Amino acid sequence: MRGIVWFRRDLRLHDQPALTAALEECDEVVPLFVFDQPLLQSGEFGSASVNFMLGCLYDLSSSFADHGIALQWRQGNQIEQVVQAAREWKADAVYWNRDYEPRAIERDHLVQQQLGKVGIPVRTFKDHVVFEATEIRGATGEPLQRYSAYRARWWTKWHAMTPPIQPMPQALMKKNAVPPPVIPPLPTAGELGYDPVDLAFEPGERNAQKQLRWFVDGPLHAYAHDRNLPGIEGSSKLSPHFRFGTLSPRTAIHAALGSLAKGGRVSRSDVLTWVDELIWREFFQQVLASFPQVVQGPFRNTAVPPSRAPSQERERLFQAWCDGKTGYPIVDAGMRQLNHTGWMHNRIRMVVASFLIKDLRIDWQSGERYFMQHLIDADTAANNGNWQWCASTGTDAMRGYRIFNPALQSKKFDPDGNYIRRYVPELAHVPAKRIHEPHLMSSDEQDRYGCHIGEDYPGPVVDHHQARQEYLDLGKQQVTPC
Ligand SMILES: Cc1cc2nc3c(=O)[nH]c(=O)nc-3n(C[C@H](O)[C@H](O)[C@H](O)COP(=O)(O)OP(=O)(O)OC[C@H]3O[C@@H](n4cnc5c(N)ncnc54)[C@H](O)[C@@H]3O)c2cc1C
Repeated sequence: MRGIVWFRRDLRLHDQPALTAALEECDEVVPLFVFDQPLLQSGEFGSASVNFMLGCLYDLSSSFADHGIALQWRQGNQIEQVVQAAREWKADAVYWNRDYEPRAIERDHLVQQQLGKVGIPVRTFKDHVVFEATEIRGATGEPLQRYSAYRARWWTKWHAMTPPIQPMPQALMKKNAVPPPVIPPLPTAGELGYDPVDLAFEPGERNAQKQLRWFVDGPLHAYAHDRNLPGIEGSSKLSPHFRFGTLSPRTAIHAALGSLAKGGRVSRSDVLTWVDELIWREFFQQVLASFPQVVQGPFRNTAVPPSRAPSQERERLFQAWCDGKTGYPIVDAGMRQLNHTGWMHNRIRMVVASFLIKDLRIDWQSGERYFMQHLIDADTAANNGNWQWCASTGTDAMRGYRIFNPALQSKKFDPDGNYIRRYVPELAHVPAKRIHEPHLMSSDEQDRYGCHIGEDYPGPVVDHHQARQEYLDLGKQQVTPC
C-alpha cells in the first residue's frame, strides 16, 4: 500500500500523527508539500514568515534525506496539486493533520471530495492542538466563549486523558518511499516572490527542540515574572515553531510539566503560567473553529467606531504607528522590533494594539493585517483572537477597561529603558527617568542627551489622556448588550 503524507503546518518528524499512521499502515510513504500559489500571491504573509517556513522545509527535507526519503514538493493550486500527485503516484490513501482555519477546512473538504471521486480515501488526524474544539464544550455542548471556563475544562480533560507523545516512528528507517524522480531543490524565497531575510529565529525541528530545552532549563524558572519584561529573554520564543508545527504542543507541555516532576528549582506557578499560555493558543484555535465568522469582523458588535478624521490624517497616524514614529517610545520600540525581527514581545503587542485602536482610533483590522504581514509567527487564530481581545470585541470582551497607558506600561515593564534603547537608538543617551516620556525633557535636557523632540525623535502624535477620555465617552454612548 502506498500513502501520501501531505505536510502543511506540521513540519516535523516527531510526534507527527499523520506520518506515524501512514508509516504504520503503508508499505511506501511519500511526503509531500505544496506551495500554495494563490496564498503566496495574496500578500497576506510577509517575508519573515515565508523565509522561516522555507527554513523549516529545508530542515524537514534534510531529515527525510537522512532516512533515504525525498520530500516531494509542488507549487500551484493546492487542491489540484494534491489530487494530481495522488493520481500520478497511484496512492492508495492520503494522510494529513487537520487545520482549523475556515479556508483550510474548505480546501481540505474539496481535496477529500475530489480524491473520493477517484476512489482514494483520506485519513485525517488531530495534531495542531491538544484538544479540538468539539472536545471542550460547555454544559449543554456549546462552544465556550470565556477563557477561564475553557481553561478549567481543558485541565480537567488533560488530567482525565493525558495525550501521549508519539516517538519518531522506527518504521521510517524501513520504508521505501516511491523511488523519486530527480526532485529539484526546494525554491528560494526569491523564487517564491519574497525578499530573503536574515532570520532572527532558527527554523526547523532540530532548532525547535534546542529552543525548548533552552527554555525549560532556563527562563521557565522565572517565567511568571519575567514573561512581562521585554528587555530580557523571559519567554520561550517558540511561537514560530508552534505556528509551523516544528514542535508539537504535546511535546512542549510534557517537557514543562516533566520539569516539575523532576523536582529541582522550577516552581509550579512558573510552569502552570506557561502552560496557560498554550491553553490561550488552543482557546483561540477553538474560537476560530467554532465561530469562523471572526475572520470577517468583530465577534461582538461592541467596538467604539474608528475615528472620523479625514482619511489623510488617519493615514498619517497609521503610518506613524507602522514606522514606530508615534512619539511614544514603548510603542515605537515594539513596532520597530516587529519591522526588524518579525517578532514582538507579547506585552508590547498588547500595548501597540491598544494604542492603535484606543488612542489613534484606527480600526483593529488594519492592525491585524499589518501584524499578519510582518510577524514571523503570523497565525490567523492567535492574531485575530488577540486583536479582537485588545479591541474589546472578542469572546472575552470587556469594553473600556483595557486602555493601556503607554508611559505607565513602559515604566513598569521596561523601567531602565533598555528595551526602548535597543530599538529606538535616537533615545540611546536619554536616562531612565526621562526615556518613557521624552517629550517632557526641557531644552537643556534635550541638548544634554542629544535628542531634540520634533527633530531627532517625534513628539507624541496624540495626547494619551485626551484620547483615552474621548474613547471612554464614546464607549458610554455605544454600550450594546451582549
Ligand atoms: C495583538 C496580538 C497579536 C498576536 N498575534 C499572534 C500571532 O499572529 N501568532 C502567535 O503565535 N501569537 C500571537 N500573539 C500572542 C503572543 O504575543 C505570542 O504568541 C507570544 O508573544 C510568542 O512569544 P513566545 O513564544 O515567547 O511566548 P511564550 O510566552 O513562551 O508562550 C508560549 C506559547 O504560547 C502561545 N501563546 C502565548 N501567548 C499567547 C496569546 N496571547 N494568544 C495565543 N497564544 C499565545 C504561543 O504559541 C507561544 O509560543 C499575539 C498577541 C497580541 C496581543
